[in-house]
Amino acid sequence: MFCWLSRLCGELSTPTRRTTQLIWSSAARSMVLSSQRIPELSSFVARTNTCGELRSSHLGQEVTLCGWIQFRRQNIFLVLRDFHGLVQVVIPQDESAASVKKILCEAPMESVVQVSGTVISRPPGQKNPKMPTGEIEIKVKTAKLLNSCKKLPFEIKDFMKKTETLRLQYRYLDLRSAQMQYNLRLRSQMVMKMREYLCNLHGFVDVETPTLFKRTPGGAKEFVIPSREPGKFYSLPQSPQQFKQLLMVGGLDRYFQVARCYRDEGSRPDRQPEFTQIDIEMSFVDQTGVQSLIEGLLQYSWPSDKDPLVVPFPSMPFAEALASYGTDKPDTRFGMKIVDISDMFRNTEVGFLQDALSKPQGTVKAICIRKGAKYLKRKDIESIRKFAADHFNEEVLPIFLKTNENWNSPVAKFIMEEQGLGLVKLLETQEEDVVLLTAGEHKKACSLMGKLRLECADLLEARGVVLRDPALFSFLWVVDFPLFLPKEENPQELESAHHPFTAPHPSDIHLLYTEPHKVRSQHYDLVLNGNEIGGGSIRIHNSELQHYVLDTVLKEDVKLLSHLLQALDYGAPPHGGIALG
Ligand code: ASP
Repeated sequence: MFCWLSRLCGELSTPTRRTTQLIWSSAARSMVLSSQRIPELSSFVARTNTCGELRSSHLGQEVTLCGWIQFRRQNIFLVLRDFHGLVQVVIPQDESAASVKKILCEAPMESVVQVSGTVISRPPGQKNPKMPTGEIEIKVKTAKLLNSCKKLPFEIKDFMKKTETLRLQYRYLDLRSAQMQYNLRLRSQMVMKMREYLCNLHGFVDVETPTLFKRTPGGAKEFVIPSREPGKFYSLPQSPQQFKQLLMVGGLDRYFQVARCYRDEGSRPDRQPEFTQIDIEMSFVDQTGVQSLIEGLLQYSWPSDKDPLVVPFPSMPFAEALASYGTDKPDTRFGMKIVDISDMFRNTEVGFLQDALSKPQGTVKAICIRKGAKYLKRKDIESIRKFAADHFNEEVLPIFLKTNENWNSPVAKFIMEEQGLGLVKLLETQEEDVVLLTAGEHKKACSLMGKLRLECADLLEARGVVLRDPALFSFLWVVDFPLFLPKEENPQELESAHHPFTAPHPSDIHLLYTEPHKVRSQHYDLVLNGNEIGGGSIRIHNSELQHYVLDTVLKEDVKLLSHLLQALDYGAPPHGGIALG
């Protein structure tokens, strides 16, 4: 599943609080709501109806249902479940139906059965308004045990807690849950809508590209596949990037693919070795064109039971994202922004601030945690300071703001009156707030503060403060990235901020030859609630320029990309694209 979509699924549903019934009903509702035609769910198979669809309008109908036994009550009622919902079945009690009763009473839970009978109204007082099929029940005439179920490793009930490991080990059983069914069906519907929007409304062509390929320089590590020829290997593509650019050279003009990508990046919580992207490329397009396309695409395919998306999405330059949120993927659902307070501390007596400010890139940064004094414990502050020391080799000082500015902080006595007033004004602090302060090189100090901002948000939320509305979808374009960034392991060398095919900003091209680190790019990322869910760029379509970037700036082996460089020489149109996922 696309990582971003799984996040969306998670955020769209509230599994723990709803009853199973409600989730089943919402799964069923979303299936009907999102398509114009109601799909035929029982064609070609051994049932007449699904368990979730029967209503009072079906009274008197003879039906055949297939499903899993979800509950049994006093050998009188049985609740049958399929992908569409739940329905109550009345187990016949009369002698003549003894064999039917035996099947339905003896089959273990989660066995698969087929029942045939009549749709009848539930007796007065027994209707269940929480159940979409709660007005009716099935008076069974015949029953067949299709397959019996052994004792399961966990119960198929959404409210039953189970570990992630167990869920993964028995993925096929986990898929029986209403939540997982909902997620997969939502994904399928959204992909369908996306295809509709791209192909039918905007003339895109769905092209499948190879997965056995050769190495692409730069970017993530690739998986290597042995070939039959000794010493020769294939690489699995990190993305169809080269193929989609070649398709533009081939005149395809508008390409998309629901594409599998492979990256051997080790295990990080937000990374998977294989994942899916909605991959897009267009000729004769600029940055605004790609952004508008994506906004339209998401708006069109957005689940119909959610508030519609408002477009255009806001946009933020990379430099501002770093300075105010300490990251290139800011979570804009809440404030607590990083503030530069260097100027206020130019004459400070606090040693580590003095030290930092005496260096060329030295800064002092702060964030204000509203009501932090009330919600953060001493041990939280200690672990924040330890994190800063262990991971950033930086000092972080807390200032607890109290009435009468009688502050409680290791630095309180060194903070002069006007510095204190300045802090209050710049950070708009109030009583019971906590200010966290650090000092160091701009980028490093911002990244640290960005991490602490999220950490503090988690801590406050764990104590019941609502900072990030779970129902909010805060989309944001991050733009104006630098084309290159210093390599982490060797900051003297440069690497691409996006990938080596990204075009420089037209007004910065001259800097490529003199100060490449200052060149801005035509790269844009789409961020949702603090997660990067897409990224793309306008590409270099000039072979010479591409050669220069690969060879001179990035010091890559150009031979590996000679086919692409050659293609760019044969009338490549200007082009750009993006991938979501
Ligand atoms: N291929 C790029 C990626 O996977 C996306 C793009 O530039 O279109 O990140």
